[in-house]
Amino acid sequence: RRKKIVQECERLMDEPENIRNIAIAAHVDHGKTTLTDNLLAGAGMISDETAGEQLAMDTEEDEQERGITIDAANVSMTHEYEDTNHLINLIDTPGHVDFGGDVTRAMRAVDGALVVVDAVEGAMPQTETVLRQALREGVKPALFINKVDRLISELEEGPQEMQERLTAVIRDVNDLIRGMTEEMDDIDDWTVSVEDGTVGFGSALYKWGVSMPSMQRTGMDFGDIIDLERADKRQELHERTPLADVVLDMVCEHFPNPIDAQPMRIPRVWRGDDESELAETMRLVDEDGEVVLMVTDIGVDPHAGEIAAGRVFSGTIEKGQELYVSGTAGKNRIQSVGIYMGGEREEVDRVPAGNIAAVTGLKDAIAGSTVSSVEMTPFESIEHISEPVITKSVEAQRMDDLPKLIETLQQVSKEDPTIQIEINEDTGEHLISGQGELHLEVITQRIERNQGIPVNTGEPIVVFREAPQEPSREVEGISPNRHNRFYISIEPLGDDVVETIKMGEASMDMPELERREALMEAGLDKDTAQEVETMHGTNILIDDTKGIQHLNETMELVVEGLEEALDDGPLAAEPVEGALIRLHDARLHEDAIHRGPAQVIPAVREAVHNALIDAEIRLLEPIQEVRIDVPNDHMGAASGEIQGRRGRVDDMYQEGDLMVVEGVAPVEEMIGFSSDIRSATEGRASWNTENAGFQVMADNLQPDQITEIRERKGMKTELPEAIDYF
Ligand code: GDP
Repeated sequence: RRKKIVQECERLMDEPENIRNIAIAAHVDHGKTTLTDNLLAGAGMISDETAGEQLAMDTEEDEQERGITIDAANVSMTHEYEDTNHLINLIDTPGHVDFGGDVTRAMRAVDGALVVVDAVEGAMPQTETVLRQALREGVKPALFINKVDRLISELEEGPQEMQERLTAVIRDVNDLIRGMTEEMDDIDDWTVSVEDGTVGFGSALYKWGVSMPSMQRTGMDFGDIIDLERADKRQELHERTPLADVVLDMVCEHFPNPIDAQPMRIPRVWRGDDESELAETMRLVDEDGEVVLMVTDIGVDPHAGEIAAGRVFSGTIEKGQELYVSGTAGKNRIQSVGIYMGGEREEVDRVPAGNIAAVTGLKDAIAGSTVSSVEMTPFESIEHISEPVITKSVEAQRMDDLPKLIETLQQVSKEDPTIQIEINEDTGEHLISGQGELHLEVITQRIERNQGIPVNTGEPIVVFREAPQEPSREVEGISPNRHNRFYISIEPLGDDVVETIKMGEASMDMPELERREALMEAGLDKDTAQEVETMHGTNILIDDTKGIQHLNETMELVVEGLEEALDDGPLAAEPVEGALIRLHDARLHEDAIHRGPAQVIPAVREAVHNALIDAEIRLLEPIQEVRIDVPNDHMGAASGEIQGRRGRVDDMYQEGDLMVVEGVAPVEEMIGFSSDIRSATEGRASWNTENAGFQVMADNLQPDQITEIRERKGMKTELPEAIDYF
């Protein structure tokens, strides 16, 4: 049976008009995994009885234990719609916000996103996040409202009440879609509606679903459904209006095939020359064009080793091809080509444009790489919605495990670029930085369980930033031999400029003109935007000097000194953010030998640090938005949990039979929140958090926090004398 399906998939791979590349995205617990299993069962990939129990997508052991989906995994299936067989390539997306980077990457590979929303809870913060990620990538949404059985059986709602509730969910989702697409010229109206058939309802648990077209086809209306559900005749409901058929029909009908999607998506996600032949073959989904693969995920197979999965935008991937990997020098040779079937890989001879491929041999690729048969502009760096905010140290308990631990850590950072790894071979104490406490916990558990390496981990440590607050005066930096001098001033960059850089909308990789325009649009004045020498993190170096001899050949060292100064800020050696550094003037020794690295780097570093101090540099801490849903009588306890953490409650309101408490709190204070809120509310609260960037800490908290970080890092605890403004 399986073999037959594989053969059919292979045949369909050559019919791009019958292919749909889709993702299912949802707020945690809204039923994405259960729905996915239904689809696989409906397509004959797993047996009907085990759907819902098997959780085929959750291949990692820890995912099944925790009941959350962590890695983006892929499956292909076939579905007959209007007498034509279709190939549906489904990419799974993680449901927890701690894994935001994976969601964005999955979105890049697909053309349609089925957003699942729990009928009782309605649109939640992560519904908004996944919608934003989809729309930003030019991915078309459709809506499935799940757990409708609960409205009928548990809440005992009648047809009228149900309709009102479902209408409200659709309205909320459409408000989000409208708000997010307002300024996108290439998208006219992507709101969803029952009449169009872009909204489906049902129960993933009891395996039934309906949509306007399905109701017309089966003649069943809401009244019939309520009667059957009330009478506990769920099996009959499943037989009369099976969920998989309804949803897969919706997918085939409403999501664009690659031929329709790629002309619109390529300009959104690729900045290369749109007049080039490569642009043309990508728009045409030309399987005879040059090979272009965008890697969305790197996984490890116990037998095959590292597997790169991604979307083939042009050409045909085959075994033996030598392909360029963006950001690396050489080429990699493709060792095998496959597709995913229910989480397992099946080798095939070739995978043409418009499909999702799983290949081995790309040893230099990481999630996000562009792999191609000609050298090309890589796909835009994927916009990460959140940067790492928390760090934990790991150390192998047994010295013998050290090499294996290092290898595993390197692997982890390849699979998940939102994880940052710092390896210290001398002390054996390595640092992992990620999106939140849970993100790091999952990684350390994988090391321990999957790799069998017992490790000791440190307490989670929050990542801080340092940022200038006021324009500084001009500051002089002198080299140790006193023959070289640099004159530098620093001012804070506007929030919009910082945001633009963070989103990858202005970077040194892009053509100068484009970068200049992006920076000016974010509020940088024209003269400044014209003189950008380099960017480092969210900081910009402006060269305001005129005709200084030897400066050109020294610039590389100047940049090196600058980068050192910015990586380890003057307060607590945390990264500097949002600094505009102006190099006004320089005196350089005639003789190259007296202006080498040992002279220039410390001079620049000193000047930058002193200018930052004069610019009233402050420590910034990461903050999180918190939302708690809780029964009325526990509301006080819930808001107390936010306020007690240097947090602020912004809003409290009723939603259904629950109260919602919304607020913000520093990430540092949120460590341990999950067990505290559980005991404070007797386990009655559900909650989630979302990273919300960095915020300047109150001045009265700065000295202690700075001292604490310096102590932890083994630095001198007393601050440089110049920093006396606290
Ligand atoms: P995910 O986190 O979005 O993948 O959600 P899951 O598929 O793991 O579902 C979360 C919980 O909701 C599980 O306990 C499911 O059994 C339950 N669930 C999923 N779909 C339905 C549904 O349609 N009706 C009801 N009553 N429960 C559901």
